[in-house]
Amino acid sequence: MSSTKVVVVGAGPVGSLAALYAAQRGFDVEIYELRNDLRDPTTVPLNFTKSINLALSVRGITAMQQAEPNSAEGERKLLDHVLAATIPMRGRMIHGKKVTGELYEEGQDYDVHGRTIFAVDRGGLNKRLLDVLESMPNVKFFFNHKLTGADFRKRKAWFEQRTGSAPQEIEVDFDLMVGADGAHSSVRYQMMKFTRVDYEQSYIDTLWCEFQIQAKAQYDLAQPMSRFRISPNHLHIWPGKEFMYIAIPSEDGTFTCTLFAPGDKYAYLESNPANVPSFFDHYFPGVTDLIPAEELIASFNRNPHLPLISIKCKPHHYSSSVVLLGDAAHAMVPFYGQGMNAGLEDVRTLFTFLDRFPASEWGHALDEYTAYRVPDAHSINDLALQNYTEMRASVLSPTYRLRKFLEESLSKYVPSLGWQTKYSRVSFSNERYSEVIARSEYQGKILMRTFFGAIGVPTLVAAAWAWVRYRRTAETGVKALYGFVAGAIRR
Ligand code: FAD
Repeated sequence: MSSTKVVVVGAGPVGSLAALYAAQRGFDVEIYELRNDLRDPTTVPLNFTKSINLALSVRGITAMQQAEPNSAEGERKLLDHVLAATIPMRGRMIHGKKVTGELYEEGQDYDVHGRTIFAVDRGGLNKRLLDVLESMPNVKFFFNHKLTGADFRKRKAWFEQRTGSAPQEIEVDFDLMVGADGAHSSVRYQMMKFTRVDYEQSYIDTLWCEFQIQAKAQYDLAQPMSRFRISPNHLHIWPGKEFMYIAIPSEDGTFTCTLFAPGDKYAYLESNPANVPSFFDHYFPGVTDLIPAEELIASFNRNPHLPLISIKCKPHHYSSSVVLLGDAAHAMVPFYGQGMNAGLEDVRTLFTFLDRFPASEWGHALDEYTAYRVPDAHSINDLALQNYTEMRASVLSPTYRLRKFLEESLSKYVPSLGWQTKYSRVSFSNERYSEVIARSEYQGKILMRTFFGAIGVPTLVAAAWAWVRYRRTAETGVKALYGFVAGAIRR
């Protein structure tokens, strides 16, 4: 067994996967976690502060797959187990109300090739990682241990042990510390004392609160999917322009729903929670048919109203002794469903760099890791912020739909061009996030040029001609031109 000791701080999904990668390479691994063991039924469930359900996509799946390099196909202890407990979501289901007052829902598939993302229970995924780690002889857990200090030159850290009647401080040595202790990372805070970290943190003016759609009490037992009240294979969105409501399916037939709305809307509802059902009826038509009014009010009162933080920092490491992963390095708003996926991808990426060097030269590996990963972390933070506009408003816009249609058609019928929607690149590939942005901007430019070339320029020429030829009826001509262009976009 190697004498290299890797200390992981934080046993969330990212820290647990990092511990697994390190353990598989034969390092001595110690995991320190502030909270009690998640698998202990007395532990306060994570969903008091975190969303219950997450969207798992290719990046997260690839990272877990590569944690099992020696497993034979069909015997994967981690991935098979995790995927068996997921529900594929093939697209968004947009809910709304027509001018006639009739409710409608409209499916928008995520991918023209039929690929899906997966709804997964965060706790279930995390527990499975802990189970796999527990079976490894070179892994030790230290639950109820809070990092309180670190000296990254001397490679020593101090933890407050909260297991006995009075907290005690213990000192721990390490070769490499992995800081996977979430958005409010203590490792990051300690690391800032040793190196100049550029740090950017912002809260967006949006709070979130969870609700639940219950499964049907009575359903056809031969068809378990019939227990879902709405399609189980979609991420449901009630777009509200300024805000939105979403629902993600769970294996037991329920949906975990989230209201994302600005602070003033929350303040309005908090001042009189009895207004919650009428607020929903106005902005999210159909929801009160799925969640009775009194349950909506009770959930709004019971569940926390939490902020959304976005964090960028650089570098992600100091020397050869500490590296930040997951939310500790790049907490992001949840609108691309990538926070955990990106964190799991951090782990896979980090180890491709560590594997190239002996432990004595990990300083080089971490320098290279930061240089490679920071642009991608910044990119997905930006994309996540942009996607909020897409989810709450653009999904209804004709221009957005036209671009999606064109890019998907090219992807399907002219695959040699390599065109894909931005969403496909983010969710169904392991392409670098920074390249996703570059490719998407490039595609956007080409589409604009083609649009103006194929439609814009001829129509402008036609308009100029119409203006000269029929000056007196120019106004009518311009109106007709406007109608033509708007029609082309809508189509
Ligand atoms: P965390 O899950 O925060 O884990 C950090 C761990 O460190 C915790 O267990 C904590 O107890 C421990 N810790 C903290 N401080 C200390 C300390 N001082 N000492 C020891 N231990 C400590 N991501 C997706 O990929 N898809 C989604 O669909 C998605 N939806 C989301 C919806 C919402 C509403 C939110 C808020 C987030 C969503 N995310 C999603 C993001 C995702 O939840 C996070 O990115 C992910 O949980 C980060 O994992 P992590 O392991 O880095 O950090």
